[in-house]
Amino acid sequence: MISKSQFLKYIQCYKYLWLYKFRRELLPEEVDASLQRIFDEGYEIEDYAKKLFPKGVEVEGLYDKAEKHTKKLIKEGNKLLFQATAMANKLYCMADIFSYNPKTKKWDIYEVKSSTKLKDIHIIDLAFQKTCFEGAGYEIGKLHLVHVNNQYVRKGKIDPKKLLKIEDLTSEVKNVISGVHLDIENALELITKKDEPQVKILKQCKNPFGCNFIGYCWKDIPEHSIYNIAGSLTEKKLNELLDQGIIMIKDIPDDYLTKHKSILHHNVIKQNKIHIEKENIKSELSKLKYPLYFLDYETFSPAIPMFDGYKPYQRIVFQFSLHVQESKGAKLKHYEFLAKDKKDPTNDLLKALKSFVKGIGTFIAWNDVFEKGCNREMARRAPKYSDFLQEINNSMYDLMMIFRNGYYVHKNFHGSASIKKVLPVIVPKLSYKDLEIQEGGTASQSWLTLIDESVKKSERNKLATDMLKYCELDTFAMVEILRKLKEI
Ligand code: SF4
Repeated sequence: MISKSQFLKYIQCYKYLWLYKFRRELLPEEVDASLQRIFDEGYEIEDYAKKLFPKGVEVEGLYDKAEKHTKKLIKEGNKLLFQATAMANKLYCMADIFSYNPKTKKWDIYEVKSSTKLKDIHIIDLAFQKTCFEGAGYEIGKLHLVHVNNQYVRKGKIDPKKLLKIEDLTSEVKNVISGVHLDIENALELITKKDEPQVKILKQCKNPFGCNFIGYCWKDIPEHSIYNIAGSLTEKKLNELLDQGIIMIKDIPDDYLTKHKSILHHNVIKQNKIHIEKENIKSELSKLKYPLYFLDYETFSPAIPMFDGYKPYQRIVFQFSLHVQESKGAKLKHYEFLAKDKKDPTNDLLKALKSFVKGIGTFIAWNDVFEKGCNREMARRAPKYSDFLQEINNSMYDLMMIFRNGYYVHKNFHGSASIKKVLPVIVPKLSYKDLEIQEGGTASQSWLTLIDESVKKSERNKLATDMLKYCELDTFAMVEILRKLKEI
């Protein structure tokens, strides 16, 4: 038997389905926090979607139990079901909203997703449901996707009619259904095979979602492999290299790469040396003007806006770390802010930030697109700070560009310009490894716990300390990287 979610994974990579059926012990034991958050948000969106269909009845249980309950509820005359379940022809699926249309005398299906736009996989999802329910003897009419409306701006209580959009995909499903039938046949055949299928690792493991079997399938991929080359390879090029048996960057033929950053990375590995363009670094650093402000924000982006004035998935900037060096050789100062209450932090955060800024010099960020975007969004919510935020954006310098532009390339950056990869190479004594929070995703998730009053105060205090330490290291890392670059 194949469930809908297994089939959708099969579409991403057929090996997934086989591993799921026969090597389930390879899956990680725990769902990581960010994935769990995606699931939780999905349930929240579903709850709002149900409000658009009042008087629906919930089907209970899973598999046979849910299937029987579905039949029972329909027999009793119910015309609107949540999680209606069908099992037929070795397929199993649940429909989020299953609604009988008395005019057409058919059942309409509504699939609820937390994404903000239609994706091809949603059409395949609905095609699978249609196939499964029709196989079980239901007449299926219209097929819809219910998804988040990214233009909705919260004002007061969440309005499900404005938060969600319904799209009729009946004709799109019709266009793909024969292909989906073929895929289902192949998937059912695959799970009769004893031997593990061999697949080439291309882009499917991370696209569109990170696969849970990466730990297993990627275990033999060596360091400095073609998957990590700076600028990344297209699927076509990956394929060509794998066909030639090339897996290491050093083995890529000299004239094969075309992107500047890929060529630099290739040279650094082949010649086993560090690539440094001193003049370009010097010219970049000459753009910096004191006082220097090293700024980093932490944000949280909920699907359902938490506060008025926010759209779905819009960033709530809840924390900053700011290191300041007023003049050359001056003592470094550190300032910080962390919102600890469940209210829009924009005004308090900006008030604090402004109080620490004495004259605009250069604001230094890592990947400044992020900080600039946060500033533009905050300026819209807090117009009295818009000139201040505009000034920050006008003076912003992105320290990451020195690495992204290839002025400094080290093989141990592993093709990345992320601060997490650059820092341990340039400033080995500084590390995120000793911190409780080691990356932005965890810091972001932590905020939900921090503002949750039902969580013990001592736990929240400990979390606040960890969050502050993490963000402080992000800006101190920039201070130290800049110091090293100046030494060059
Ligand atoms: S890790 Fe990649 S190759 Fe392995 S099952 Fe997942 S998508 Fe397929």
